[in-house]
Amino acid sequence: MAMLESVLIANRGEIACRIIRTARRLGMRTIAVHSEADAGALFVQMADESHFIGPAPARDSYLRIDKIIEVAKRTGAASIHPGYGFLSERAEFAEACAEAGIVFVGPPASAINAMGLKDAAKALVQQAGVPVVPGYHGAQQAPDFLRGQADEIGYPVLIKAVAGGGGKGMKRVERAADFEAALESAQREAASAFGDPRVLVEKYVLSPRHIEIQVFADRHGNVVHLFERDCSLQRRHQKVIEEAPAPGMTPEMRAVMGKAAVEAARAVGYVGAGTVEFIADGREGLRPDRFYFMEMNTRLQVEHPVTEAITGLDLVELQFRVASGEALPFGQDDLAITGHAVEARLYAEDPEKEFLPSTGKLWALDFPEREELRVDTGVQTGDEVTPFYDPMIAKVIAHAPTREEALAKLADALGNTLVAGPKTNVAFLKKLCEAPEFRAGRFDTGFIDRNLDALGAVAHGMDAEAVRLGVLKLIDMEFDARSYHALMGNGSATSPWDDSDGFQLAGARRQGFPVAVDGERVDVVVQWPAPGDAHADEEVTVSWNGDASGMISDYLSSDMRGLVPTDEGVIVVRDGRQTRVAPYDPFDVDLAHLNGGNAVKAPMHGKLVALFVKPGERVEKGQRLAIVEAMKMEHALVAPADGEVEEISAEPGMQVAEGARLIVLRTEE
Ligand code: ADP
Ligand code: ADP
Ligand code: MG
Repeated sequence: MAMLESVLIANRGEIACRIIRTARRLGMRTIAVHSEADAGALFVQMADESHFIGPAPARDSYLRIDKIIEVAKRTGAASIHPGYGFLSERAEFAEACAEAGIVFVGPPASAINAMGLKDAAKALVQQAGVPVVPGYHGAQQAPDFLRGQADEIGYPVLIKAVAGGGGKGMKRVERAADFEAALESAQREAASAFGDPRVLVEKYVLSPRHIEIQVFADRHGNVVHLFERDCSLQRRHQKVIEEAPAPGMTPEMRAVMGKAAVEAARAVGYVGAGTVEFIADGREGLRPDRFYFMEMNTRLQVEHPVTEAITGLDLVELQFRVASGEALPFGQDDLAITGHAVEARLYAEDPEKEFLPSTGKLWALDFPEREELRVDTGVQTGDEVTPFYDPMIAKVIAHAPTREEALAKLADALGNTLVAGPKTNVAFLKKLCEAPEFRAGRFDTGFIDRNLDALGAVAHGMDAEAVRLGVLKLIDMEFDARSYHALMGNGSATSPWDDSDGFQLAGARRQGFPVAVDGERVDVVVQWPAPGDAHADEEVTVSWNGDASGMISDYLSSDMRGLVPTDEGVIVVRDGRQTRVAPYDPFDVDLAHLNGGNAVKAPMHGKLVALFVKPGERVEKGQRLAIVEAMKMEHALVAPADGEVEEISAEPGMQVAEGARLIVLRTEE
């Protein structure tokens, strides 16, 4: 059967690049569509052709079915691959492709619909004999009724949006007294995120392990599974590290789970790549009678590379083959697991600030190259991480004969990954890979939350060594731009710090260097050797508060790769942590200080989606004032103290810049 002539990729970033790579290898013409924000993106450069579809916000571009179909028709695209996220699980999109006579690289619309709502999906697979989490997934939504159901199920319970995804609208409830408030907030979140307030209530499985099965089906009635992935390392119900196979999995349990997943796929007439997600009760290890269906994702999954690593298959190639009508080239018995694979999701976020998403220019992005180490990314040095889309920068995947070796390889790769610009979770991921309990295979979905301190996800103080290195780098940059002699005082000095208080001290020269360290002023003193000193280079010292000092020799022997020049100064990267050091600019004052700290500022670039207060209104400390949305996540802004709303300088729907003052409170004291 002939391979599809071409594919339009209705997605962006890392997954668009990944799809293009396989499509090109198969000889297909690759057609990208892009938003305004992505005009210069890597996937646009990689594709054979690229077409503009609208402004940056996804709803105006990547979610516009009409525009994408129009480009597909105009370019004669034989197929459309939706990637994940965006339109990948929208039945209307699959239907629109069919109507336009274009092959949708995914399941039939009917299968997407059948699995689209969690309640209906549970009912359907239960009929097919698949175990589901005990709970209520019926139509009744009255609070009293649902609380009655929760009492019967027994606490803790989990309230979930039936239309949910991305961990939104999900609330764990510990006791009956908290049920109503949790229900209300789950319904509110569900209504705003999915336009559907309906929820289901299920047993909260204890010591939960998220184990999912990759399935594949063709149009000829063949359905197989490609084994499991363990995605238990999560934060806010979102995956952080995934691996295959699952630690503690037995061949017996794998066979039972694989069969259940295949049954679920058969029950909806599935075609293509899909994932059946299960939650396993891990209190006594993995047991074949203690796993339950959660949902089916009717698309390729973010973590598919770990399955590719252990099976040696290219899942995107298989998707294209199945979409073009070919039969699966193997049966269940032909498949085997080779070694162990682990994937880490590198995010633009700040673990020291409760994982707040971080945006900005990537001044440096560099990954190590190793045998059986795979890096999937959609960005490169010089690109901007914008607030419009997912904060994922890259996926780093290690494959090795054993789990121990795969984790060691991944930890080493993360330790040698350089990112300067947006804050990232790279140091956090490395610590996760090295955590002894996780290494030993003792973990569940609560592991990250229980170990935030040990994993370094707490505010750290200033990195003194980074400041010393940064100052020396700034001086070094001046050396390049001007001349050594100018800075030594023999000539016309033009350094930005020249008019500060340089003075002579027994032949040596001391100079005050006010610098901004992550925006905070630090008064550094640099001591230069006397002019003409033979060891001049080694004797420059950097100190402040009298307690820290550094020598140029330390600087010269440090890893220069981690000293990244920017337009303002330098970013020093040490152990994955970034410190910004720049010449201090006295005009760059922080407005919040002028407001006695009662200004509520946007924590990041994003969109103000809700404002809960009006000028003159009284608020209590901790009260939610507004919500800013960035990178698919919502962040509540809360009142820093009791007080009265004095001023509001933004309105819902507005894009706001990081640090912008949105609300000013007049407080009591
Ligand atoms: P998965 O279940 O495939 O691991 P997640 O549950 O982590 O994915 O992702 C939540 C949602 O966000 C899913 O709908 C997924 O398709 C989407 N998503 C995740 N990462 C990206 C990305 N880089 N680009 C677009 N969509 C994404
Ligand atoms: P989403 O559509 O947001 O991916 P899921 O139903 O897949 O929603 O659940 C997301 C995560 O929430 C799971 O990976 C798991 O960690 C946790 N979870 C879901 N259901 C349960 C449950 N019944 N007990 C314990 N944890 C659960
Ligand atoms: Mg899920």
